[in-house]
Amino acid sequence: MRQQLRMAVIIISFLLFPITIWYFSPYLIIQAACEHIINGSFIVFAIMLLSSIFLGRIWCGYLCPAGGIQECIGLCNNNPAKQGWRNSIKYVFWTIWIIAVIVTFILGKNDVKIHPFYMTDHGISISSIYDFIIYYGVILIIVIPSFVHGRRAACHYICWMAPFMVIGSSIGKLLKLPQLHIEANKDTCVSCGGCNKVCPMGLDVKKIVSEDIISKCTECIQCGACIDSCPKKVLKYSFSRNST
Ligand code: SF4
Ligand code: SF4
Repeated sequence: MRQQLRMAVIIISFLLFPITIWYFSPYLIIQAACEHIINGSFIVFAIMLLSSIFLGRIWCGYLCPAGGIQECIGLCNNNPAKQGWRNSIKYVFWTIWIIAVIVTFILGKNDVKIHPFYMTDHGISISSIYDFIIYYGVILIIVIPSFVHGRRAACHYICWMAPFMVIGSSIGKLLKLPQLHIEANKDTCVSCGGCNKVCPMGLDVKKIVSEDIISKCTECIQCGACIDSCPKKVLKYSFSRNST
């Protein structure tokens, strides 16, 4: 039941993406920075960073519109996306982008203003044919990696939002704050592999459980699919201090 609800919410989030897309825009934050404007995507990225200190990557599991479309693409290519060095690509892009945002803001003009609806039409992102061209371009950037490489490959390889949450949850761990995470009792695992089949991130959950590192896995989006599929109830949500 929880996973059906999660899928419903995340697909609705994707259907609303034409309204919300500018609030996740890595480009508009730079355009706004030129004019010293704190725009909607700046505010959303800041909320992601701060909330992940306590909630980890639950945004990715339950609310991300890009996650919604990728889980639908999973019907076409359900292979686990390869992990390893490819997961670092997003951090390289993210670092270059954040430097560009900071430099643009330093060089920007005017007094600092907060404008959450910057470049939207009464809060709605897509309001012209031109906007739709950008919208479908972004959709292609998100879906092509998943079509080619498998489950949520865009989250693993190119997502510009994931690093905010990885950094936020790492800060929470460093400060030893109570944080949402997945816990496993590895001694009760029977290595059936059921969790691997359902993990939307294509993680080798069985191996991660056997190594007792699931609470530290930065690619886990805390969706709970493994919890709900495990016949031995090995896994559970926990909101507690999580050591590094
Ligand atoms: S589904 Fe449960 S019992 Fe099966 S491998 Fe995963 S954690 Fe172990
Ligand atoms: S390990 Fe479990 S909670 Fe984490 S992404 Fe995979 S299925 Fe979701």
